[in-house]
Amino acid sequence: MTWTRGRETPNPGSDAALAAGCTCPVLDNAHGRGMPYADGPRFWVSGGCPVHAAGAQARVDELDSLAADVNLAAAKPPEAGP
Ligand SMILES: [Zn+2]
Repeated sequence: MTWTRGRETPNPGSDAALAAGCTCPVLDNAHGRGMPYADGPRFWVSGGCPVHAAGAQARVDELDSLAADVNLAAAKPPEAGP
C-alpha cells in the first residue's frame, strides 16, 4: 500500500476519510482510531479505496507480471531429513 499514516490524509474509516470517498472498513478501523498495537495503530485499507489505495492496482499489476518469472519448484523448501 502507498498510504502512510501521518500525512494530511485522514485515517482509514474515519468520518473525515469517509467524507472524502474512503471505502476502507469502518468498524475494523475503529472509526479511524485503528487497531491498537504496541508500535502504534494499524489500519485495514481496501484495495479499491480512492483515498488510501491510490496506486494499489498498479502495484498488483506489477506483482502479477513478476509472478510469471517465479519458479515454484526452485522456491520449494528442502525436504526434511530422516
Ligand atoms: Zn480508505
